[in-house]
Amino acid sequence: MRRIGHFIGGQVVNGDGERLADVFNPATGAVQARVALASNEDVKAAVTSAQAAFPAWAATPPLARARILFRYKQLLEAHADELAAAITAEHGKVLADARGEVTRGIEVVEFACGAPHLLKGEHSMDVGRDVDSWSERAPLGVVAGITPFNFPCMVPMWMFPVAIACGNSFVLKPSERDPTAPMILARLLQEAGLPDGVFNVVHGDKTAVDALLDDPRVQAVSFVGSTPIAEYIYARGSAAGKRVQALGGAKNHMVVLPDADLDQAAAALLGAAYGSAGERCMAISVAVCVGDATADALVARLAPKVAALRVGAGDQGEPDMGPLVTGAHRDKVQDYIDAGVAEGAELVVDGRGLQVDGAPDGFFLGGCLFDRVTPGMRIYREEIFGPVLCVLRVPDFDAALALVNAHEYGNGTAVFTRDGDAARQFAHQVQAGMVGINVPIPVPMAFHSFGGWKRSLFGPLHMHGPDGVRFYTRLKTVTARWPTGVRDPEFVMPTMK
Ligand code: NAD
Repeated sequence: MRRIGHFIGGQVVNGDGERLADVFNPATGAVQARVALASNEDVKAAVTSAQAAFPAWAATPPLARARILFRYKQLLEAHADELAAAITAEHGKVLADARGEVTRGIEVVEFACGAPHLLKGEHSMDVGRDVDSWSERAPLGVVAGITPFNFPCMVPMWMFPVAIACGNSFVLKPSERDPTAPMILARLLQEAGLPDGVFNVVHGDKTAVDALLDDPRVQAVSFVGSTPIAEYIYARGSAAGKRVQALGGAKNHMVVLPDADLDQAAAALLGAAYGSAGERCMAISVAVCVGDATADALVARLAPKVAALRVGAGDQGEPDMGPLVTGAHRDKVQDYIDAGVAEGAELVVDGRGLQVDGAPDGFFLGGCLFDRVTPGMRIYREEIFGPVLCVLRVPDFDAALALVNAHEYGNGTAVFTRDGDAARQFAHQVQAGMVGINVPIPVPMAFHSFGGWKRSLFGPLHMHGPDGVRFYTRLKTVTARWPTGVRDPEFVMPTMK
């Protein structure tokens, strides 16, 4: 059985090796590897390695740091197929989708290659007579990233390229469910010339996370995962005096107005709800139809397409959807479907019990479509994180907007319409961090920042882009005078004379 260790100080190590977790192949249901779960001591070793590497790395000119990242980008491109295969093997998503994830991660490296420009400060001459002032951005020190299973490559890459470009050293605690892709990311960073210790990976569970949160040498924590854990990380990390950004769960609504092109809307919904088997924090899981006629027409278009979704192993043929990540998660999603039926929603397409040829033990679930869902139902209130789309019917635009705004989550949202005025009003009044206008999954590019509102994000700063640079640096403002001769003491607040 393959064993996956940690990456500390430039070496793959087993750690204390006391505890291991199974890593499944979701397409077959078989255990394919065992990953080490870090102890307190293992985490301390990783932080010690990062702490030791920090001073020299922080003193490395931003241009020299950027050149390592340029080499890293080339290596990532050369190894994109290896990364995608590792993602598909452990997460289950379709290979082309995994390849897309790698590309979106590489885009953050491209952004971080601009480190010399991103870290430029501001300068003001003559803020007082013969006094100049400038600001500069200093790295924080050792920073940590804790990431979810659904993007084992891209989500870590929202964090560490920016963090290390800014001069920090990094400890990544990826999801224990798909640990191989992060190890490839670490190996390639080393090959690109990153000094040992600047980037470390510790695998693990709550023990490893708590050790990172409690270690006073860790200055900042970036987290992406479910809302209960995000809230916990934010509270515990902040109480320990750390900077924390914690991105949580989502329930992304797509509002379909009566004037929308319904063929376009149905096609967009299909990809946005069922791509990656719905295991995306930006998946659309709720379609809000304005008017019964809109809902009837949309459901009529969607139902046959959902029923015909091709489901299979992510690396065989070109299915639309792969399996869910674990058997336990598949069962949880099925429980939600049972609950929706029990609560009286209309299950138009039922994906339960799907059998995939040649893979009887894979964690598969077919696409599910609910109509006539109401706001009180659990399948509406809670994040399901599977291939399940809920259709809600509302009478008008105001009711649609109010519905989106009343939900506890505010990650992404979209409106489909041909009315520019309605789209503009929606974009300005909706309570969500990322808004699409005729774009179902409005994930910001690497040079913008990614983050939600309400209980989808704890902390003020989003990931990557300008907010990423702000998060991983602290501002220093220097005020300088080079006086000639002796000046009289000043006892009053200096003001411009
Ligand atoms: P999760 O919250 O279970 O796990 C995330 C990380 O936290 C993992 O590294 C895990 O090991 C760790 N963890 C789990 N339980 C813990 C505990 N009790 N104490 C400390 N650490 C713990 O999330 P997941 O199932 O891996 O990922 C799916 C979730 O992530 C969904 O809710 C999804 O919406 C969310 N997500 C959000 C975004 C976003 O940008 N907002 C992006 C991707 C995923």
